[in-house]
Order: sequence, then structure tokens, then C-alpha cells
Amino acid sequence: MQALNFIDGKLQPTASTLDLVSPGNGSVYGSMPRSGKAEVDQAVAAAKRAFPDWAATPAAERARCLDRLADLVSANASELATAEARDNGKPVSLASHVDIPRAEKNLRFYASGIQHYASQSHAMEGEAINYTLRKPLGVVACISPWNLPLYLFTWKVAPALAAGNCVVAKPSELTPVTAYMLSTWVAEAGFPPGVFNVLHGLGAEVGEALVLHDDIAAVSFTGGTATGARIAGHVAPKFKKMSLELGGKNPAIVFADADFEEALRTTVRSSFANQGQICLCGSRVLVERTIYDKFRDALAAKAARMQAGDPLDPSTKFGAVVSEDHMNKVLGHIELAREEGGQILCGGTRLHPEGCENGFFVAPTVIEGLGPACRTNQEEIFGPVVTLQPFDTEEEALQLANDTKYGLAATVWTTNLQRAHRVAAGIESGIVWVNTWLLRDLRTPFGGVKASGLGREGGFEAFEFFTEPQNVCIKL
Ligand code: NDP
Repeated sequence: MQALNFIDGKLQPTASTLDLVSPGNGSVYGSMPRSGKAEVDQAVAAAKRAFPDWAATPAAERARCLDRLADLVSANASELATAEARDNGKPVSLASHVDIPRAEKNLRFYASGIQHYASQSHAMEGEAINYTLRKPLGVVACISPWNLPLYLFTWKVAPALAAGNCVVAKPSELTPVTAYMLSTWVAEAGFPPGVFNVLHGLGAEVGEALVLHDDIAAVSFTGGTATGARIAGHVAPKFKKMSLELGGKNPAIVFADADFEEALRTTVRSSFANQGQICLCGSRVLVERTIYDKFRDALAAKAARMQAGDPLDPSTKFGAVVSEDHMNKVLGHIELAREEGGQILCGGTRLHPEGCENGFFVAPTVIEGLGPACRTNQEEIFGPVVTLQPFDTEEEALQLANDTKYGLAATVWTTNLQRAHRVAAGIESGIVWVNTWLLRDLRTPFGGVKASGLGREGGFEAFEFFTEPQNVCIKL
């Protein structure tokens, strides 16, 4: 496998390359471009040339291109799912049921959405009429992470392109393959050269050069909070728009009146889906003291029974984490939890599943006995590791839930309707799920508060970001 850049309608190699590593077995299985400033300059220039025509293209035609791209994703779904599992370490069953269908849905959703997007008008009785034009921004940068590679890549590029922008996108260097595959179909889908460019390489090199480029009008970034802060430092002084979807330390609050089995089943999923590498995973499980022991024992027992396996085996439910570095980071956090006095109820070690002995696997890990202020309960681990903390009252649950610099998502388990509304409103986060997790309607605003980000994606929010409003006032 040799991944290439896609610039100005053409696939292009670079002089220097990076290895593609499969987390499932630790082997190098191909190469990818190591792009830098020269490729950024080339891609941004091509996008700038393409912009006037693309912005003037009727929305219905832009939508047709996105729909044709979605058709190609659908026609190649099985190859994409296998590629995602090989590149990322996630189970191929997850890629087939979640990542790839959702990538297709993102493209179709925004293809449809742009045709329903309307701007406002404000009448000044008898005097004037104001209307708002929503203009595309120009050339925008879309930078996406490795945990849900094609899913989050399309979540950004689809609204940007639908709204009439030209895009230079950079997927994570750890998982570039599905974005590369998508780029090979861009011309066939009907996008003119330069409208949609995909560059590969290191964040610190090509990502940084992209963000710093003066002709980039806006940056849409999903990734870690530290990277987000660095990007904001570059972008803010130039007054460019930015949307930052960052890390989380999400609470799952289980009240004693919850449906126990449903709360337990879903908490296992929200803790360990995609090896805990979803920004929306619950990593701090807060349980009302009267059911704490029962819930803890059941959660640890279920986690201990989870079997890690070859990501490419269709029966595997729990795969590898994304890289050796990330595995070591997660194991380091578990070590820290031990030093902080935490008791490891299950997991806590690297795994070596049969046939994947050299892969990067971390056992599902449940930790208790740590207070809210310790690093384990404050820092994002982004792996299959959760902590348990008991609480006595609703007020205490809320205090624990909010006691972090992050504010992305939260889950509340209760059958008390008033409490559900009260607690949901009291939580400082962009998203609250009550008696469910990861149920997503693409029309809803998506994003976090505090150190979890800036701005919202999803639905028309994404079009608000990827367009500039202009008020036109006409005197009557
Ligand atoms: P990173 O912040 O390391 O990287 C994200 C992307 O930014 C990658 O494409 C990366 O490239 C690139 N990048 C890195 N440094 C720079 C730079 N200086 N300038 C421009 N681009 C750069 O995050 P991860 O990939 O490790 O993703 C995990 C993080 O993402 C977690 O914190 C997670 O919570 C968060 N996340 C947030 C979501 C949300 O919606 N709020 C959703 C999913 C994940 P490269 O990989 O090549 O270094």
C-alpha cells in the first residue's frame, strides 16, 4: 500500500515518506507521503484558483458531487472497513457498522442539508429590508484525528465543500489510508481540480504549515486539547475562523433508580467501544453509593470477560489501540493510577492475543479508590480505562461531574424524570445523554465547552461556521 497526496485533481507522491504501521500486529505494511510547506503551498494555491467557480456552482450541483462520493464510499464499503481496521486497530465489525456507514451518511447529510439551508431577513417596517447573505469563506483547512478516521474526516469536509469552500484536508498521520482511498474517487465524483485536496504527513510539519498559511480562511480541527491550543495561538492573531473539537473526561452518572442492566450494558460500551478511543467515551463512572458495590462488581466482571482479538477477524469485538506510543501512554496512566493509590479491579496490562502477539493491545481496565482531584481523574487517557467513584447526593454527583477542565459529553442514568432534566441542565458539557449513549442525530449541535473546544459542528451549525454572514440593508 502506497498512499499519495491528492492535489489539484491529481494523485502525487512526495520525495520523503513515512511508514504505515498496523496496530493489530505492529508491522509496517506500506508508506505514505511526508508532506511539508511545499505541498501546502501547492494545494492552497490550487484551491484558491478553484474557489471562484466552485463558490458560484449551484448548491444542487455541489450536492450531486457529494452524493456521488457517498455512492463510491458505499460501493467500496467493505474495502474501506478492512482498511480502517488495518490502519487503526479497531475491530473490522465496528468499522463496517459504524465508521464507514457514518462516513457515507455525513456526505449525504450535508449534500441534502445545503439544499435546505436558508438565511434570514429582517424587515424594518416601511423603511428597509435587511437580508443576510451566507458566503463561503474561501480555502479552509480540515484537520482530523485518528480515532474515527474516515468518520471525522467526512464530518468536516462534507459541510465545508457543500457550503462552497475549497478544502485542504489533513487526516492523522497514524491513520491516513481511508482518506487516501476517498481522495482517489474525488475526480470521479465530479469535483473540479483544486476543490478538494488531501495532504498527508506529520501534524507538526504539514499540519502546522497549513494552519499558518495566510490564504487559509478558517481551520476546522478535531484532536487533542494541547494541539488545539497551539493552533488557536497561530490562528487567533490572524483573525481567522476556527472550530476546535477537543478532548474530554466525560462523566457517566448512574443513580440508584436507573434501569440497572441497561445502565451497566451501555456503560461497558461507553467505556470500551473503540478501545475507549472515542472523545465521547465515559471515562469517569460516578455511581450512587447504595448500588455502588453491585455496579462495580458487575462492571469489572463484564470488562474482565472482554476478549481482545485480531482487528481483521469479523468476530473480534475489542481491538488494538492506535500505536505503540499511545499504548505506552495508556499503560503509563495506569501506572500513575497505581501510584496515586488506585485499585485496579481488572485489566491494567498489555495483552498479546493469539496471532497478534506484537500488536498494541491494552486490557479493559477498571480502577477505583481515587479521589476527584488526582491526575487519573483529571487527565484524558483516551484508552480502555475508566475510574469508579461513589456519590451520595444529586448535588455531589453534579459537583464530581463538573470537577474537570473538560466539558464535552456526559451520560445520566435515572428513571426520575425531574432529576433527568435537572441534572442534564446542571452539567457543564456540550452534550448530555439521558439513559443512552452515542445516540446521534446529525442535525444537533456537536461540540464541547471549557477545554473541550470552541464552536459547534453538526447540522446547520457547520454551515454557520463554513460561511460568513453579510447583512444587506435596502431602503424602501
Ligand atoms: P492530535 O491533537 O495529536 O492530532 C489531531 C490532528 O492534528 C492530527 O491530524 C495531527 O496530525 C494534527 N496535528 C498535530 N499537531 C499539529 C499542529 N501543530 N498543527 C496542525 N495540526 C496538527 O490528536 P489525536 O490525533 O491524538 O486525537 C486524539 C484527540 O482527539 C483526543 O484528545 C480526543 O479527545 C480528541 N477528539 C476530540 C473529538 C471531539 O469531537 N471533541 C473527537 C475525536 C477526538 P498527526 O496525527 O499527523 O500528528
